[in-house]
Amino acid sequence: MSAPGPDCVICSRPALGLSGRDGGFASYYEFRAVWDPPRVFQDMVHFSCLHGWEHRDAMLTELVGLATNSVLEWDVELNGETYHLTRNGLGFTDRLLQTNDVLVLQHNFSADWMIIDFSGGWQFIGREDLLRLVRGESFSVDGGRDRYGLRLSPAPPESAVDSWTLSDFLRHLDIESRYPGLVDGGASLEVRKYYPNNGHLEYCVHHPLSIHPAALGYFRDRYARGGEAAFEAAFMASELPGQQRRRSRMAIYLELKKLSDDETRTTYGFAGADGARRTLVFDRTEERIWPEDDVKDGIFRAAAQTVAKAWRKHGNELPDTIRHQS
Ligand SMILES: [Zn+2]
Repeated sequence: MSAPGPDCVICSRPALGLSGRDGGFASYYEFRAVWDPPRVFQDMVHFSCLHGWEHRDAMLTELVGLATNSVLEWDVELNGETYHLTRNGLGFTDRLLQTNDVLVLQHNFSADWMIIDFSGGWQFIGREDLLRLVRGESFSVDGGRDRYGLRLSPAPPESAVDSWTLSDFLRHLDIESRYPGLVDGGASLEVRKYYPNNGHLEYCVHHPLSIHPAALGYFRDRYARGGEAAFEAAFMASELPGQQRRRSRMAIYLELKKLSDDETRTTYGFAGADGARRTLVFDRTEERIWPEDDVKDGIFRAAAQTVAKAWRKHGNELPDTIRHQS
């Protein structure tokens, strides 16, 4: 699998794609590998590895910039040529809480939050999960899934994989130490599909979700003071149409309709600024998005971000229609 690769950039062992325990970015986010220029980070990292990594602070500083900046123009030199690139930030522009330990950000138009733990880690959290955490419910989320399928080498026999527990799986990959407390915390493995001829495993890890205690305390405090209704109004109204409370900006409404879908590529049609039909191409294997007409304007970038977000959420089951309003 290509970007982001399934392996940790620090220890080169597989990363499973579990919220709060590892993370990665595809190359199109242009997350600069500031510790290893001029490349961009298109890998995964175990947060247990990141805690003690010499480049941790540099990486997280760059991540804060990516998360909070709307646009960054930068030059990259590659093979003697200079390329001028324009990067769109992730749109988490509202700083709700910042301490020496943690930064809590809210997205500027959707009910999504990003939590950056300066001891080494980050995670994204959506409305439903945040509410459940704040109410004190314990629940599990799905991690891994098809897009993070792994190739096991050498390929174990099907009979062995079929009866694997999460411990067996971690032991086979030699990554038990990368996920401390995962097995004891009640996580479990679901084998979705295994191809014994080439060792490709599609899996899901059901694991309890938690967030940084200071972030949880912040949200709980707001919840306790305002009650559910006030909490909803303060934090969760921003995705409702017409309740734009953010800084003024050009409004974009986009409707992306799926045109085609094959083994590796999905195309979506959308209307350009002048109403003309345009096509966005998404290579799911490479995790690359580009406009068929090569015009990377603001509308295309918004469309690309919308598809990237849907991909993060739905994986291979990308919806037929995706709407985006900002
Ligand atoms: Zn690692």
